[in-house]
Amino acid sequence: MPRYDFQCHACSYTFEEERSFGESKTPVCPQCGATTEKLIAPPNIHFKGDGFYNTDNAKKSPESKPVEPAHGKEDKKNGHKER
Ligand SMILES: [Zn+2]
Repeated sequence: MPRYDFQCHACSYTFEEERSFGESKTPVCPQCGATTEKLIAPPNIHFKGDGFYNTDNAKKSPESKPVEPAHGKEDKKNGHKER
């Protein structure tokens, strides 16, 4: 069975749980019993998505515009991502 990461809505506790294919319900938090949500990626690489990159960039340096949105593919290939 595939394993997924879940995060609690109440206490932000993250845990891994096996779910069968087609299982759409999320488990409850083992810590407090509140509802949880499925995390797409493991917590440690959660902020590397393109959406986060754009938002982050706009906030930090509104003047500079290092990457054109249209060149997103090339940017990935060349490894120009913000470190
Ligand atoms: Zn909890």
